Amino acid sequence: MSPRASSTRTLTEATEPRGGDIRAARPFLVQVAALRKALGTTRHEQRHGVIEGLAAVGVVVPDGSPVTADLTLSSYPGGISVVGTVRAPWVGECRRCGGPVAGTVEPTVRERYAPVGGVDGDEDAYPLSGDELDLEPLARDAVLLDLPLAPLCSPGCLGLCPQCGANWNAGPCACPAVVDPRWSALDSLRDP
Ligand SMILES: [Zn+2]
Ligand SMILES: [Zn+2]
Repeated sequence: MSPRASSTRTLTEATEPRGGDIRAARPFLVQVAALRKALGTTRHEQRHGVIEGLAAVGVVVPDGSPVTADLTLSSYPGGISVVGTVRAPWVGECRRCGGPVAGTVEPTVRERYAPVGGVDGDEDAYPLSGDELDLEPLARDAVLLDLPLAPLCSPGCLGLCPQCGANWNAGPCACPAVVDPRWSALDSLRDP
């Protein structure tokens, strides 16, 4: 079964408020005018929101599942530093048996936001436009980098039989054991 066929997704979509609330439309947008005016000040922000298109090979953040950003913003002369964690659920397929796997990523982030085209030219920073700072690209990057490349349903997953496709986690199949050709040469010497 595809992870997208999960029955949990429609409920949240149906109950979400539509239109009107600008903060709901851009849940990761933070106003930082006061923070920038007083250098060295700090503010804690916890934001939740859906970020579309978070997927890697065989792993996806389910549609409608919110990403949580739990971050501390601090102003410094060149911009704003952002430190904390981002959290997102994921579902995927086991690399060995193809069975469903689920988990949560919770990467730690330590990034900077700096004015676009600023004098200092902080190339590694996320853009700070005016007094608005968008945490969404930061959260997106952090989750994408942290999604597992080859998830397993369990560390000891036995995988599928390469001959009949049976799931060996459910028990052995009837296929003859695959014999390493180097040993079969020895067997033929031994057999009469
Ligand atoms: Zn597995
Ligand atoms: Zn088999």
